[in-house]
Amino acid sequence: MDTEQNSASYLRQDPVHKSDDQWRRELTAAEYAVLRQAGTERPFSGEYWDSHTQGMYQCRACGAELFTSNAKFDSHCGWPSFFAPLAEDRVRYIKDRAMGMERIEVRCAKCDSHLGHVFEGEGYDTPTDQRYCINSVSMKLVPGETA
Ligand SMILES: [Zn+2]
Repeated sequence: MDTEQNSASYLRQDPVHKSDDQWRRELTAAEYAVLRQAGTERPFSGEYWDSHTQGMYQCRACGAELFTSNAKFDSHCGWPSFFAPLAEDRVRYIKDRAMGMERIEVRCAKCDSHLGHVFEGEGYDTPTDQRYCINSVSMKLVPGETA
């Protein structure tokens, strides 16, 4: 995990820029509140927290491929959890002190929409000891082989 602004070859390649009005028109109210206003869906309420379907998780706002089911694990925290993104340049990290504690926000590198947060060192039995805690409403699962 690189918390400095990643040099994001993927981002520079083809960034998505839309006005706030465009996002409001294209997204549902729930999607907009999370993706564009950094909201958080209620735990255990989303579509994917308990999903074991194989496939690719894409950004709900721009369609960028972000995570695969291969890196998803059962954290029992109420949100879909991944131990790594599809590739480091798919996401960008922003230090977030909004809740009075320092957290690291995860955004889509392509359209800069809010996805969730990443936590480290919690002791989950995963290859990275990181938990990308991502809102279901920020993603769209495209079922299929991921290997
Ligand atoms: Zn996106």
